[in-house]
Amino acid sequence: MKRNIALWTLFAVLLFLLGGCMGPDRSNRLVVIDAGHGGHDCGAQCGGRQEKDLVLQIVKKLQKEFRSEGYRVYMTRGSDRFLKLGERTRIADKKDADVFISIHANAIADKSRFEQIEGVETYFLQKTRDARSQRIAQRENAAVLSGTDDLSRNVIVDSVLAGPKVVESHKLAIDVQNNIMKRLRSRYPDAKNGGAKPAPFYVLVGASRPSILVEVGYITNSKERKRLFDPDYQERIAEGIVEGVNHYLDNRQKELEI
Ligand SMILES: [Zn+2]
Repeated sequence: MKRNIALWTLFAVLLFLLGGCMGPDRSNRLVVIDAGHGGHDCGAQCGGRQEKDLVLQIVKKLQKEFRSEGYRVYMTRGSDRFLKLGERTRIADKKDADVFISIHANAIADKSRFEQIEGVETYFLQKTRDARSQRIAQRENAAVLSGTDDLSRNVIVDSVLAGPKVVESHKLAIDVQNNIMKRLRSRYPDAKNGGAKPAPFYVLVGASRPSILVEVGYITNSKERKRLFDPDYQERIAEGIVEGVNHYLDNRQKELEI
């Protein structure tokens, strides 16, 4: 009898330890990752480097990180090819993704300020009066919007601004931004935090699920450009994004369970 109790106790302890090691089951979670630009659309360019190449390198690391955490991952592009705006977000909807993440790199036009402007920024879709956010959105929107008139642009944005998606995307943006900064600053204490902000990015319009756009840094700033193409820096960005998504989805799960 005593031996039986001892065996059962051992069994219970083992189960407890195993449960703790395994962590949450994420196999039913799907993330759609979108590398901005591609093909004839090079995105921002500076110092012989192109945004379309940088973001492809980062999404490949991101795919690996998400998979190692147990997620299912779908990439809108895994090679140097152009995708239309609608194709990118339609994929997220068709696949019934939990989150949609678009990766971009930032740039400014004013050469005299290249070395002053740097930092990571995470955007969620919302109209804003902030001129800087509007300028950045305008630059990113240019390639995907040719041919769409002003009126239909506003209609598309208005159609998604109501409802819980904006609130959820805002929460996701904060979690991702905070975790990227945590990862970067443990090795690069001077990495600049540009914050989580609203902006009218059209690539986020079509997806009816929490969606964010990460501007991983300024390709026009020589210090940041060098870091952005460093595999260690890219790895930190990828890890930060995955930790942010973990935090956001685990919290959402807890809210649903209450
Ligand atoms: Zn871009």
